[in-house]
Amino acid sequence: MSPQTSQHNTLLVAILIGALAGLLCGWFFGEAMVSVQWLGDLFLDLLKMTIIPLIVAAVISGVAALGDIRKLGRFGGLTVGYYVLTTAMAVFTGLVLVNLIAPGSGYDNLPDFVPEDIAGKASIGFTDIIQQLVTPNLFNAAAETDLLPLIVFCLIFAAALTTVGPRGKPVISFFEGLNEVMMKIVLWIMILAPVGIFAMVAARLGQAGGGEAFWQEVIQVGKYIFTVSLGLAIHFCVLLTLLLIFSNRGITYLVDMSRALVTAFGTSSSSATLPLTMECALEGGVDKRSVRFVLPLGATVNMDGTALYEAVAVMFIAQAYGIPMGLYEQAIIFITATLAAIGAAGIPQAGLVTMIIVLTAVGLPLEGIGILLAVDWFLDRMRTLVNVWGDSTGAAIMERFLPAEDLPQQTG
Ligand code: ASP
Repeated sequence: MSPQTSQHNTLLVAILIGALAGLLCGWFFGEAMVSVQWLGDLFLDLLKMTIIPLIVAAVISGVAALGDIRKLGRFGGLTVGYYVLTTAMAVFTGLVLVNLIAPGSGYDNLPDFVPEDIAGKASIGFTDIIQQLVTPNLFNAAAETDLLPLIVFCLIFAAALTTVGPRGKPVISFFEGLNEVMMKIVLWIMILAPVGIFAMVAARLGQAGGGEAFWQEVIQVGKYIFTVSLGLAIHFCVLLTLLLIFSNRGITYLVDMSRALVTAFGTSSSSATLPLTMECALEGGVDKRSVRFVLPLGATVNMDGTALYEAVAVMFIAQAYGIPMGLYEQAIIFITATLAAIGAAGIPQAGLVTMIIVLTAVGLPLEGIGILLAVDWFLDRMRTLVNVWGDSTGAAIMERFLPAEDLPQQTG
């Protein structure tokens, strides 16, 4: 075992201990643990600090390395196709399970008001999602960590860069160098992950009132939590892991990605986890062009866990209100949940907001979201973990479709 691998294994064990200790402390000490929140915020801010320069450098250098616009078009099209397909598979799994288990039937504690956070966003629609692709002000988008329009800009920029010949070379080298530097910083930040994740998990569980209070909430919607968790587990362990057959990686890839996966659980944000996802995938031996293009795109548009959760949650609400959902309505849920998940940002509880689109499409009451709120912070962590695993398997699989002629020179 190389010293680097043993260092990473030690860090992984420390991160796992941190997450477990966070759960235990949050469970038993309850609200007192809110006092460690600042440590979690510090870790999160350090990660967020790297996102913008890292994404800009990674996407531009990654896309430029693909060669020319036609190769980018083919590879980009395949990547988006792969992402839409796996997202749709997740929604399908969720719909099958929610029909079989029917977690909402018999639920009678119905709320009669729309939660405040949701009420303000009730008019969100598909055109908003399409408009999100472009920003009139790149600096505003960067300041708000609004990644999708930034990525779109970087794609256009890099595509143009490949057309200007030798004069583009120093620009590409600059972004290559910037990328390497940012990855080095991510490695340093990672050392703080065990403490950061401990603090985030403990403080959030403490904020929920500790173990007993949280358990009371869980019992109320136990069947719903079970259905979402089972679906996520099937998608994670069976579908996505089986798809790994199409890459040259076995189950060891899961170990390679573990530090990012636990961080996804800790932060409930695919975007904040992205720097670690990239670092782990590179260490797992994934081609840097795939890492730099597929992962940033995935962190913003590929949300398998969110899609599955939205489908189950919407059906749960329908069942709880006793509103029948036939094949036609479920087909609408299938399509809208897929699109709503693509439109969700990689930030905490974004899926709860884009679920409005699905509920509205099939005429269900937005008040239903109130039933899900108390336990959503926990399911959010679970679905973010699946989202990040979806991106990670995507990078490994899409590596096979990279243009062959300038095959990998592996560097960090
Ligand atoms: N928190 C999720 C993520 O960042 C999005 C969501 O489902 O709310 O991937």
